[in-house]
Amino acid sequence: MKLVTFNHHQQTRIGAVVADTVVDSLGQAQIPNDMISFLSAGGCASEAMQALIDNDQSTRLPLADVKLLAPVPRPGKYLAISLNYADHIAETGKERPEYPSFFSKHSSCIIGQGDAIHRPKVSDKLDYEGELAFVIGQRCRHVPVEQAAQVIAGFTIANDVSVRDWQIRSPTMVLGKSFDTCGPLGPWLVTPDEIGDPHNLTLKTWVDGELRQDSNTRHMLFNCYEMIAYLSQAMTLEPGDVISTGTPAGVGVKMTPRGYLKPGQTVRVAIENIGMLSNPVIVEPDGLL
Ligand code: MG
Repeated sequence: MKLVTFNHHQQTRIGAVVADTVVDSLGQAQIPNDMISFLSAGGCASEAMQALIDNDQSTRLPLADVKLLAPVPRPGKYLAISLNYADHIAETGKERPEYPSFFSKHSSCIIGQGDAIHRPKVSDKLDYEGELAFVIGQRCRHVPVEQAAQVIAGFTIANDVSVRDWQIRSPTMVLGKSFDTCGPLGPWLVTPDEIGDPHNLTLKTWVDGELRQDSNTRHMLFNCYEMIAYLSQAMTLEPGDVISTGTPAGVGVKMTPRGYLKPGQTVRVAIENIGMLSNPVIVEPDGLL
């Protein structure tokens, strides 16, 4: 299943993408309106969605007529790993980490397919990082590596957009990774049965027509299951939590000259068996007060 969170006529709800339509869950009592509740409901909600997909009488909206939001617009946790591809470690000149190195992206940075990334007022060092992300499907703690696959609800695409000068100012990296709009996520959540091996997927990032990143998830140092085992030693993972699995080489900060994102450009991240996440870059609009 390709699960989406979408808005149609001012109502947000869950659906499933089939070809160029969204199977609509409106009015289906067994299918909650938000993704965290949907995932928390477990098998019964998932089976109800599958039944809707299989029923050719169910309501289908043209994909072009709905506004896709991030599949999980406000997860309880959004964690990301740094330095998880050997070629990216090499381009940064850093040591290969002994332990997985996680940081938090605050969930308020998340945007969906087609939403604009803001080039901040306070920095022109805006950079992309194409990444495979996965979403937790059940509450879990101390998950053994060999059982970790069963707690993954699905996979999606993340762009770990980073404001590089703010990132390196602080060892926590939190602010530089959490500027508003620095969390493109989507376009949908693909269930593991449609992914195959998550550790053998091509991953590519373009800025406009220029291919910047071209790799495969098999080059991860710590794989998805090892990340779950490690994280769940420290904290309970919960339905909807998003974990992004690191970026390969080719980020703008390591290009000569530097390839930072500029207003007017579009950044696209494509991952095999998932699809493509596309976001334009604009000047940050005036703030709220
Ligand atoms: Mg990253």
